[in-house]
Amino acid sequence: MSVSVSRTMLQRLPELIELQRLAEHGAKRFVKVEELVTVEHGDVSLPVLAFEFGNQDPRAPVFFLTGGVHGLERIGTRVILSYLNTLVNLATWDDSTRDLLERVRFCVLPIINPVGMYLGRRSNGNGVDLMRNAPIEADTSGRVSIAGGHRISNKLPWYRGVAGAPMEKESLALVKYFEEKFAKAESVIALDMHSGFGAVDRLWFPYARTAQPFPNIKEVYQLIHNLDTVYPHHIYKVEPQSASYTTHGDLWDYIYERRANVKGSTFIPLTLELGSWSWIKKNPRQIFSALGIFNPVMPHRTSRILRRHLHLLDFMLRAAAAPKSWVQGHGVLSRPEDLERLAKARWYSDQAA
Ligand SMILES: [Zn+2]
Repeated sequence: MSVSVSRTMLQRLPELIELQRLAEHGAKRFVKVEELVTVEHGDVSLPVLAFEFGNQDPRAPVFFLTGGVHGLERIGTRVILSYLNTLVNLATWDDSTRDLLERVRFCVLPIINPVGMYLGRRSNGNGVDLMRNAPIEADTSGRVSIAGGHRISNKLPWYRGVAGAPMEKESLALVKYFEEKFAKAESVIALDMHSGFGAVDRLWFPYARTAQPFPNIKEVYQLIHNLDTVYPHHIYKVEPQSASYTTHGDLWDYIYERRANVKGSTFIPLTLELGSWSWIKKNPRQIFSALGIFNPVMPHRTSRILRRHLHLLDFMLRAAAAPKSWVQGHGVLSRPEDLERLAKARWYSDQAA
């Protein structure tokens, strides 16, 4: 890692400094760190880092945790840092954590868009919204709003990039990492951290590009049934992303569709969208700052958010380590056709014929 701890860097991107500290001092035994790509912007040059824990067998089940795709939404990265801190410290003395990591490969990209985070903006240095940047079209183009991705100008948010151009460096780094690293994995749960939409915390599964049912809804249903029974008072509203809005260019839709060629492997990409409107309601002045719309401002509220999601990340790591608990054919619930019926009734009832 080549990031120097300058005063500006500490002020603008303390998360990266904390990651650097974790990489250098945080229990080296449990961490493998890779620099996937370096992104240049003006006189700054920032790495996209990947951290890896646990079982290194390429066939091992995977939990893939990502954040910082949108540079403004730094609270997601801070939740990840909070969880990594817990895990790394637990693993120094807790045998059950070490045993868990023996059974799962845990890979983390805490800041996919470091330049955006450094600049305090949603897009990357080229003004491209990475989560609208994949070469994939929504099937309801007529109904996709400008926030669903456009090609008008990189001066506006949600810009997709030039039609036909290669994906941005950061998007490519994510896709390449995923496809190289997890080509043989028997199952993958991905969780991508975002913030800013709505008043409640939403857990989204695909698709973003269409209201059509997600092909792996049986597995999603089983996984969420397990979440509901383990944490009956959890706070998450679980739904397909298209129930909130439809977008072009979603990286997870893209990776999912390409993954369809990998036979006998199950992949569920989830997005955690932290609902920031309730923080704004409690502290309306923060609406006047761009960062304030996407992140809690008051310290006590930040601490609460950092604690609030630890059990979800822990649940996902455990679920990823136990694919028999949610992969179709192994699931503890019931027959596949029942799962499909239950899933459709829960999430696609408006489409039921
Ligand atoms: Zn976002």
